[in-house]
Amino acid sequence: MESLPDFDLIRPRTLDEAVKARQKFPGNRLLGGGTDLLVNIRRGIGDAPTALIDMTNIAELKTIKADAKKLKIGASVTIQEVADDSTIAHHYPAIAEAAASIAGPTQRAMGTLGGNLCLDTRCIYYNQSDWWRSANGFCLKYQGEKCHIALKSKTCFATYSGDLAPAAMVLGAEVEIIGPNGQRRLTLTDLYSGDGQNYLTLEEGEIITALSIKKEPGLRSGYEKIRTRQSIDYPLAGVAAGLCREGNKITDFHIAVTGTNPKPVLLDGTAHLVGGPLDDEFFNALDKLMSAQIKSMKTTLAPGNYRRKMAGVLARRLTKKLFDNYCQ
Ligand SMILES: Cc1cc2nc3c(=O)[nH]c(=O)nc-3n(C[C@H](O)[C@H](O)[C@H](O)COP(=O)(O)OP(=O)(O)OC[C@H]3O[C@@H](n4cnc5c(N)ncnc54)[C@H](O)[C@@H]3O)c2cc1C
Ligand code: SF4
Repeated sequence: MESLPDFDLIRPRTLDEAVKARQKFPGNRLLGGGTDLLVNIRRGIGDAPTALIDMTNIAELKTIKADAKKLKIGASVTIQEVADDSTIAHHYPAIAEAAASIAGPTQRAMGTLGGNLCLDTRCIYYNQSDWWRSANGFCLKYQGEKCHIALKSKTCFATYSGDLAPAAMVLGAEVEIIGPNGQRRLTLTDLYSGDGQNYLTLEEGEIITALSIKKEPGLRSGYEKIRTRQSIDYPLAGVAAGLCREGNKITDFHIAVTGTNPKPVLLDGTAHLVGGPLDDEFFNALDKLMSAQIKSMKTTLAPGNYRRKMAGVLARRLTKKLFDNYCQ
């Protein structure tokens, strides 16, 4: 068992204190529930932090405000609290279903919304102990010079595997951010760069404070994933969908995928699929969008082409379920 390195533990009680602590301790990392970060630090993945800034003591980050029109979830709300909230389950089911599918009960009790959105990308050559990586060769993502998945690649394809991001994306979510230059908002899709190494677009010293959603009237949503161990596992593929239906026609449609690419992918081009019934033409066009935009490499023990195929199966299945069970 590897031990943790020495670091300062800072426990701010306000956002102002947290922003200042980020400036005072260069080389710090933000700590949510630590369910991913602490494992990685122990394994020597990433530079050892000088300080951990614990975000879970800041009261204003621990609230959920939810009604039929708007949802705001603070960054330090736990995954279990998101899964258990009855208003979220009723009006934003994709979010509740994604939260309930994350890891196992202990990770859900500790893990936070902010930590889940900012979850590091994963790869079988990266999520290993230091001795494993030194024996088998470090890689581009950290300490090495080549990618073991695509030998000639100059970029990393490590997979984004958070479950909440695609669910929030189909609902048009934004993230609220605070940093040394004040506050800003970003569409959730713009939080992710698409590069497996530097996977977030946050600037130096920035902190995610909340996820916010303005609900489109009539939009019904859901989330489905496949995983190796049903009781506790990352998605081999996870798909969220949101749709509106009038009579026999789909009038709005969004779909997003995790567990495949280096970022959660909100499919481009779904606006062209709306206006008609849920027929073969719709599904063939959906298949084409999926195969053009969902690219999974051999970053997990399950083959990339299997994950890609399963993403397509989940997309069809979930869309049909939402269409068939649609109610105003
Ligand atoms: C066995 C196991 C199974 C798992 N299965 C799943 C799964 O099925 N689905 C899934 O999505 N995850 C899974 N995880 C990963 C993890 O448990 C969850 O993603 C969890 O929600 C991470 O949240 P956290 O608060 O613990 O993050 P942490 O580990 O504390 O942090 C993760 C990252 O987010 C950053 N961060 C934290 N808060 C903020 C903030 N406010 N602003 C900016 N950056 C921030 C940290 O600096 C760090 O880089 C699993 C983990 C384990 C150990
Ligand atoms: S995709 Fe390549 S560079 Fe990225 S973590 Fe895996 S082996 Fe390393």
